Amino acid sequence: MHLAVIGTGYVGLVSGACFAEFGNSVVCVDSDAAKIEQIKAGKLPIYEPGLDALVAKNVREGRLEFTTDINSAIERSLVVMLAVGTPSTTDGSADMSQVEAVALGIARALNGYKVVVTKSTVPVGAAGYIKRIIDENKRSSCRYSVASNPEFLREGAAINDFLRPDRVVIGCNDEEAIEILKDLYRPLYLIETPFVVTNPESAEMIKYASNAFLATKISFINEIANLCDRLGADVHDVVKGMGMDNRIGGKFLHPGPGFGGSCFPKDVKALAAIARNVSYEMKLTEAVLAVNERQMASVIERVRRAVPDLDGKTVALLGLAFKPDTDDMREAPALRIINDLQAAGATVRAYDPAAMEAARLFVADVLFCEDEYDAARDSDALVIVTEWNQFRGLDFGRLKSVMRALNVIDMRNIYEPKDVREAGFTYISMGRL
Ligand code: NAD
Repeated sequence: MHLAVIGTGYVGLVSGACFAEFGNSVVCVDSDAAKIEQIKAGKLPIYEPGLDALVAKNVREGRLEFTTDINSAIERSLVVMLAVGTPSTTDGSADMSQVEAVALGIARALNGYKVVVTKSTVPVGAAGYIKRIIDENKRSSCRYSVASNPEFLREGAAINDFLRPDRVVIGCNDEEAIEILKDLYRPLYLIETPFVVTNPESAEMIKYASNAFLATKISFINEIANLCDRLGADVHDVVKGMGMDNRIGGKFLHPGPGFGGSCFPKDVKALAAIARNVSYEMKLTEAVLAVNERQMASVIERVRRAVPDLDGKTVALLGLAFKPDTDDMREAPALRIINDLQAAGATVRAYDPAAMEAARLFVADVLFCEDEYDAARDSDALVIVTEWNQFRGLDFGRLKSVMRALNVIDMRNIYEPKDVREAGFTYISMGRL
């Protein structure tokens, strides 16, 4: 099947490569000519484990190509998938300008029946909005269908998530288009991946409800961890005990510096905005955002427990990306932490295995370091911000020899308090004594 994926970012590039791996003929389009040139030259613009090999294989085997020419890509495709960005506007609602531009492009290039699919996370009602744009601007009377097929991949595990998803959601009112989309996902259909087929509005809502629920779990456990801190309970044991209840489950209950990334903050805000638009106040969702803000702002308080006056001090950050195995710095808690530390007069040294190049675009006056130990040099405190695997086995003897003061603030609870303290450090973590 011929497929055009419009927008070659994290989602578009992974989806395009994976659909090609399924045996489809895929053309990935982006309006950013430099990005397309870079990909064609064999250098991917993002860090995602396994993606370079998958892209190279499918390009070599002739199923995957890249272009800036949206017209010809649409003209030769049966399915046109939108994977452009839907960032937050100032009021929290989703900015639909990229989606609108692509819908106009589709209207102009329509030369036969097409299934227009949103893989981007779009507000409830977006399918109708896209249909209106195409109807008002199309130059031919060709038939087309609009469907929603939200994406649930996680950066850092994107390929596995795409090839082995928990479910595929298709929102469409047209049987012919539903069959075409099932065919597109044929390899998953054959391995009995559950398919949820519904109307576009429900599919669009499934994506927001899922992300908002996951963000709620994070804010909830962060509040429990903060309470454990004050009451002498151990959040790990609490999570273990909670998670054994099948109605709760143990997943996604890890306390930390707050959720970040390109999806949760913007999608939770967008859901609240969607609700406001229909005069409904999502009290729980608004609270999830407020708790997250407080959580990010509270990191510096933990640092101050070890180093009360940060003026003139040096703080080392291990990890900058919002999660391990990605270079995505969008809305990463590290940005807030850096800002707060610098405002308090501290010098920030930092190391991240993949995200330093991206981080340079977001922050100023940070000393980017060679590795963990270089970051820790002459520091008064070491803050573990992102739980990259390589930070799980730090050589505390070596850290001791380079740090000015022996303080570790572990925002991801990756160490046993006893072990770090026995190594001679003051150790502060989340919800554990
Ligand atoms: P991204 O910013 O990495 O990629 C978007 C791409 O679209 C960019 O390369 C941009 O140049 C391109 N683009 C913008 N306007 C264009 C146009 N008119 N024509 C062609 N290309 C255009 O975004 P992303 O992280 O891949 O997210 C895309 C969508 O998928 C968002 O709605 C997001 O919420 C959703 N999503 C993201 C993830 C994730 O983990 N990143 C997961 C699930 C869903």
